[in-house]
Amino acid sequence: MEHIRSIEELVRWKSEGHEKKLGFVPTMGALHDGHLSLVRLSQSKCDRTLVSIYVNPTQFNNPEDLAKYPNTLESDLQALEMMGCDAVFLPDAQLLYPQGLKSRDFDFDGLDRNMEGAGRPGHFEGMATVVTRFFELIGPDLAIFGEKDFQQLSIIRNVVAKEHWPVEIVPAAISREADGLAMSSRNMRLLPQEREDAAQIYAVLSSAVSKLNPAETTPKEFERECAKALNKVPSIHVEYVSCCDALTLEQVDTFITTRSTRVFAAVQCGKVRLIDNLPLF
Ligand code: AMP
Repeated sequence: MEHIRSIEELVRWKSEGHEKKLGFVPTMGALHDGHLSLVRLSQSKCDRTLVSIYVNPTQFNNPEDLAKYPNTLESDLQALEMMGCDAVFLPDAQLLYPQGLKSRDFDFDGLDRNMEGAGRPGHFEGMATVVTRFFELIGPDLAIFGEKDFQQLSIIRNVVAKEHWPVEIVPAAISREADGLAMSSRNMRLLPQEREDAAQIYAVLSSAVSKLNPAETTPKEFERECAKALNKVPSIHVEYVSCCDALTLEQVDTFITTRSTRVFAAVQCGKVRLIDNLPLF
């Protein structure tokens, strides 16, 4: 596996296989099986796969979250090597942000109004800035984004369409631990009791989804019931539970079963902020 740290190395690696279909998987490292499923998806669709590992400061609105973001580079590289990943891109801030750590301005057509956009100001601008910079440098044919970060996936699709980036955006299903907890690099910061409690996020949401009768329950009632059940779990404090249209990400007032709709949740579990989402219909 090629380790790429400079633009020159990237240009050389690209030129060696310019006729081959290139898949790109952006990550912030601390890789788990969820990330690796994205790599496998890219490998199944492309001739070559490049994974980037870069903890992007401009998308962190909480300095403590950035400072505590886990770094497991050695084992990340081993895992990628074992999978037969072709290249890993390990840029530094100077390479990605030659003019300094600043986000571009974007208009996401309201996709950033709710949920993570409301709770984490500047997060999506920072994310979209670094992802479009990666697209510019790497020029992938295809890029994979996990549905774990559904709002991020929607925003990237929006930016790619509006700015005409010649890259196909491919979604990947959420990978979960055996007890249902969505895999996340942040899970390793949970204390043992918090880790056990965190499984309730999926348990509560999936049970509520399976019992939902959309003719008899309003989205507000559904959200309130889920939040109430989650707030009963000792380590958990709910930030939001929102039922949103899967295309516009607007909160829905009524359930319309012919419209693709998802339930989204963000909770504080001990000191760690966790998100998850599930399809309703
Ligand atoms: P991150 O390193 O957290 O920025 O994530 C890199 C990519 O992996 C993003 O596209 C995430 O949506 C995706 N990802 C993270 N966790 C999961 C998961 N549990 N299942 C599927 N994709 C995931």
